[in-house]
Order: sequence, then structure tokens, then C-alpha cells
Amino acid sequence: MEREIIVYHLSAGCTNTEVEEGKIYIGRVQGFANFGVFVQLNESVKGLVHRTNLKRRHSERDPILVKVISIRSNGNIDLEEVTPSIYHTEMVVKKAATVSLNELSQNIGRMIRIEGVVSQIKQTGGPTIFIVSDGSAIANAAAFVEAGVRAYPEVQLDDAVRIIGEVMTRNNQVQVEVSSLAVLSGEEAEKVHGMVDQAIERRAEPADLPFLVESEVLERLRPQMRLAAKIIRRAILESVPIVIRHHADADGICAAVALEQAITSIIRENTGDFEAEYFMVKRSPSKAPFYELEDITRDLDYALKDAVRYGQKIPLIVLVDNGSTEEDEPSLRIARTLDLKVVVIDHHHPDEVIDQFLVAHVNPYRAGGDFGITTGMLGTEIARMIHPEVTDRIRHLPAISAVGDRSEAKERGRYLDLVKADFTEEECKDMALAIDYQQFWLRFNDGREIVKYILNIGNERENQRALVRILVQQANSAIEDQMAALMPHVVTRILKNGAMLFLFDVELFAHKFTFPPPGKTSGEVHDRLCRLHPDRAVVSIGFGPDFAVLRSRGVLMNLPKMVRELRQEILGGGVSGGGHLVVGSVKFVEGMREKVIEGLITKISDVPIEASFTGPCR
Ligand code: MN
Repeated sequence: MEREIIVYHLSAGCTNTEVEEGKIYIGRVQGFANFGVFVQLNESVKGLVHRTNLKRRHSERDPILVKVISIRSNGNIDLEEVTPSIYHTEMVVKKAATVSLNELSQNIGRMIRIEGVVSQIKQTGGPTIFIVSDGSAIANAAAFVEAGVRAYPEVQLDDAVRIIGEVMTRNNQVQVEVSSLAVLSGEEAEKVHGMVDQAIERRAEPADLPFLVESEVLERLRPQMRLAAKIIRRAILESVPIVIRHHADADGICAAVALEQAITSIIRENTGDFEAEYFMVKRSPSKAPFYELEDITRDLDYALKDAVRYGQKIPLIVLVDNGSTEEDEPSLRIARTLDLKVVVIDHHHPDEVIDQFLVAHVNPYRAGGDFGITTGMLGTEIARMIHPEVTDRIRHLPAISAVGDRSEAKERGRYLDLVKADFTEEECKDMALAIDYQQFWLRFNDGREIVKYILNIGNERENQRALVRILVQQANSAIEDQMAALMPHVVTRILKNGAMLFLFDVELFAHKFTFPPPGKTSGEVHDRLCRLHPDRAVVSIGFGPDFAVLRSRGVLMNLPKMVRELRQEILGGGVSGGGHLVVGSVKFVEGMREKVIEGLITKISDVPIEASFTGPCR
């Protein structure tokens, strides 16, 4: 009986090294010469069958079985045609060393093997790029069949794969040029998934380091901050894109920029891809201090398009200086339906209904603090947990956010102290105003580089000073114009609890569609009136046709609660809104303005006054 014969199939990526004398291989006829036939064993290994060793006639591209007679020292391979009647085939794979992805750059030019999980599949006009993570790092593996044609169409997101290929540099970036790619199954796949998962879990652990300043509230918030940091780190390591949605004021911007700095640095380190930071993290300002339907709609639109177009995963949403209140619920409901994970870092008064939609919620009210702990403070400290190395670039952001949001917490002074050698309190205020002013003109754009410039992140101090100076001049002169027009129209009332109430129409008596917008205009009026009446409780209401912006000092009110009550009490008022406890905005239908504002004033006049603001009426 004939012993069963093995015919070897030399897989892509194999070279002479994998060819053995005496073994039989399957090849294809490649060309003819007088002395014989050239046979290709794979795309790079070729041998010659001398005509005396041919058994039959062949045409080009014919499959042919050949036995290796010898491999000469110059690399030439001598073959002999064989025609076994019964045989079975086995694959020969490249004998490549398994390398972990964080060691790729030490292996340039070598044929290597990697095992990992596919985290993104990007079709380019040339090769298909498989972005693979093995837990140690993320790398691009480029596979080419034909320009713009998807290679290995069987591979899907989250598949465990084994890739053999050569390490190359392309556009200054290290990548693997795929020779063979196999989707793993069963135990092998489980093993790779387990390895990647464990490694990522370990690497996602945030840094343990002291806060920049002493703070009891921050200490109590530490577990939630760590959780938020870990979720964000994990997302980066798993190639989950991140959307940072933030309130478009100085506080929200400072917090979001701090996080953006930490996230982009890790993406750069983890992928070695200098472009990844542009499509893996997006910072988007929101007009309102809550997650509006308009915002979630845009985020979803981009997320779903990117998933289809670039094979990206569904993003992690990080809400900054918004996300905590009842007003966020409709958007969060949509997010949950589509499996979007949401982290909230906010200092607006939190509503309990919100937590069910979040994977982490950092809020000082949950730790005995209040809005005086700004999101700029929280965001900066979380950014340091994510990536401690960014500390020097962002350590002044809490101080800017504190003056921008008029924090009165103890931490305000501590963060200002921390940076006073570099930035005075006055300079911090200027930077906060400059950033507000610039963001007004940026509208929905993140202004990534301009904003970094104004906040003095990685640029020359002299240039930054000059830019801030001119922006502050322009902002102040715009504010002065607005005040000159508006202040004579402010109406004063004394409420029955002794608070002074100031009412003004920011639509009729102020310039529209320019800086300062109604919210900032009302704040400015309020500040001036507070300075005029230092020992009195002050409430300012700036209103337009269908909204009112409210600021107060020295009154112990709960604006979100008042809004809820008004919604019940005023039939057909269309009341909604909220914000902080003592500062925020209310919306209503235009025809009911009088009723809603009077209802609000009645409620405010029933609220107790803080003892230090019950000074004499003048
Ligand atoms: Mn804020």
C-alpha cells in the first residue's frame, strides 16, 4: 500500500527558509525556458523544474506538484515534477517570532507574528487597514488585494486574529504589512480575547497621585473621579472614539481642554499614529449648559457615519459642565437606546433621575460640595489621573475656570495660589473673558488650536499675552456698549423678603446677535448691581420674548424646583429650564411671559435671605 503523501502549500509571507529539501509542494507554472519550467510556490518563492524532470506538458498558471531536489547556496531551488495519486495538503506558515505591539518599532524590516483583537477596519483607496490591539498597544496592519478593495472580508470588528507580516514604516508610522491573516476561533480566540482584556484592564487603571490642592470635597469624590478616568483610559486603549461635549463657557472649555490634552497624549503614545488624535477624540461645545437634543443628534449622526465609513466603534460620550440635570434626560434616553456610554463631569445641581443613564457621574453635590468646585477643577484632576505627564500644561486651568464661573469655594484661592508665579488672578480673569469672547465667534467649532493658544498650552507666553490683551479689550468695549444701552432700562423692585429685584429686557434694550449674548449680558448687569448694593440680597432677571436669565446673590432658592412648580401651576405657560440652584434660565411661551415672570418673582419673594445680606434699605 502506498503511504499517504503530504503536499505542502507555502502560504503568503513564506520565504526560502520555510522550504525543505525532499518535501513536495504545490505550485503554479510561471514561465517557460529552453531548459525547463519556472514554478512559483507562493508570490515570492520560485524554483526551476529541468525539462528532464518534467512529467507532462503544461501551460502558464497550471497547478503543478513538485518535489524539492535541492536549495543551492545562491538561493536557487531545483525541483522535480511528481504525480502522486493520493495525497493531502498542509499549509506551511511563516516561522515568525510572536512580537507584542509595543515592540514593533524594534522590529522594523522583520517578518513577525502578532495576535490581537481587531478594533477598527478602515478601507482606504489602497490597502485595507486593520487596527489591532493586543493589550500592550494598538497598531495598523495593512492588507492589500487591489486598490480600494476590502482584503479579508471575513474579518469583523472584535475578531481575534493572527497576523504574519513585515514591520515597515509608512508616513513615519510603524505598521505591519500583512502576508497572512487568520481569524481565530474556539480556544485560541478565547485565549487572545482574555489576554487583551486583562492587559487593557490592567493598563486602564488610573494613576494614584495627590490632587494639586487640598480639598475635602475632591477627596470624597476621588472614587468617582477614578472611575471616570478608568472608563476614559479603557476607551482609548480599546480604540473607542471619545466625544467630549462641554458647555461653551470658560469653565466648560477649561475642563474639556484638560481632558483633551490627556486623551490625545495617550492616543499618540498608544497608537504611534499622529493622525489618530484627530479622528479618535472630538471636543464639541454646547450652547446650553445641558445636553440638548440638537447636540445628541449631531453626535449620533457623526457616530453612525464614522462607524459605516471608517469602521469605528460607537463613541464614549463625556459630558463636561453639563449632563447632571433633568433637562439632560431626553438626550440621555436616546443615548441609552443606542448603547452609547455616557460619563458626566458636572457641577450643576444633579437630578437623581439621571444616574440610571450614566456609567460614571462626578458631581461635587454628591460629596458635600457645590458649584464652587468648578468642572475646570474636576476635569483637570481627572485629566491628571488619566495621564499625569500633562500636569504642567494644564495646572492653571482650574484657576481660570474658578474665576470664570465665580467660584466662592475655598479651592478657588488654592488653585489661584498654585499658579500665582505664572498667572496672576487678573490674568486668569482676562483669560476667562478672552476665551468666552473667542468662543462666541467660534460658535459650534471647537477652535482647538486658538483655544490652546489663549489658554497658554504649549505656546510662547509673549504671543499669548498679546492675543489675550486684544481680545479682552474688544470684549470689554462690547460689554461697555451693551451696558450703556441697557442699564438705564433696569427696573427695580424691593421684594417682601427684603431682596432687591432688578428686571430688564435684554432683547429690546440690548444689541442682538453680538457679544455679549443675553446670558452674559444679564450676568454683567447683575455684577454691577451687586457692587452697587454690597450688603443686600440681589436678584437679577434679564428676559427676552420667551426666556428669562436669572442671577442671584444672598437668596436661598432652588431654581430647578421653582421651574418644576411653575410648569405645574401655570397652565399653558410652556415652562421649562433650570441650571444651578441660584443661577439659571427659564423658557416659556411668549404669550405667557408676564404670568411666568410674575409667578417666578412671587416664588423668589418667599425665599429666605442669607443672614449676611439683610442690610438696610437705602
Ligand atoms: Mn461651570
